[in-house]
Amino acid sequence: MSELRFAAVSSVGRVREVNEDSLLARDGLFVVADGMGGHAAGDVAGALAVKVMAGLASPDILQVDDIADAVRRANEAILSRTFVSPETSGMGTTLTGLAQVRIGGVEHWAVFNVGDSRVYRLVDNELRQLTIDHSEVQELVAAGRITPEEARDHPDRHVITRSLGAVPIEPDVWLLPAHTGERFLLCSDGLTDEVEDMEIAAILGSGSPQDAAQNLVAAAEAAGGHDNITVIVVDVVADFRSWDRIDDTTSPRLPRVGDS
Ligand code: MG
Repeated sequence: MSELRFAAVSSVGRVREVNEDSLLARDGLFVVADGMGGHAAGDVAGALAVKVMAGLASPDILQVDDIADAVRRANEAILSRTFVSPETSGMGTTLTGLAQVRIGGVEHWAVFNVGDSRVYRLVDNELRQLTIDHSEVQELVAAGRITPEEARDHPDRHVITRSLGAVPIEPDVWLLPAHTGERFLLCSDGLTDEVEDMEIAAILGSGSPQDAAQNLVAAAEAAGGHDNITVIVVDVVADFRSWDRIDDTTSPRLPRVGDS
């Protein structure tokens, strides 16, 4: 497994009374869920989703298909809770995350997403958003009808087009090899609504994961803190890619003399 260093900070912000964001940060598995504002019991939906994701296997045996399965189970858990507790009807949550998985014995990152919480990757001071928002404004941007700058102030910027708790859903999942020196950021929209990507890159680029996470949340609070703010920062201190550490069962086998 890669050696990781990470930190998580979640804040209610400066306006809301309840923090409906939930998070999970453990070695090899990181999740942010943003229970939906305006819906009943958003904090319940987010916490339920995170609880199901926490049941995922450890990274040395986790397969990429396990992730989509767990996201589907999280969705079903929210739907069943809504069924037995009608007062939670309409609750929902985003879910985004980063998980170490093994593919052919080699370690990769799986990045997954439903909704508009985000995963970013910072390498050599270049910030790249890895997830694609499931939102009305993202669709307008993709169609070339508005610019990313216009999306920031668009009246429908909080309308998401995919979430847990509504109908059967599929997460988007991306795979990338792990590299020493990369830094990941997972966050809810309480950060990205308040702080632009350029400033996020500048803050994320310095200090320990704990420093960066605290400074990002502080920047979102200083900008107004209108929503709950959740940030997880993950550093890959040393990656696992050396061939001699790949386990025997996945090493290429040389044909033996006599084999047909
Ligand atoms: Mg939010």
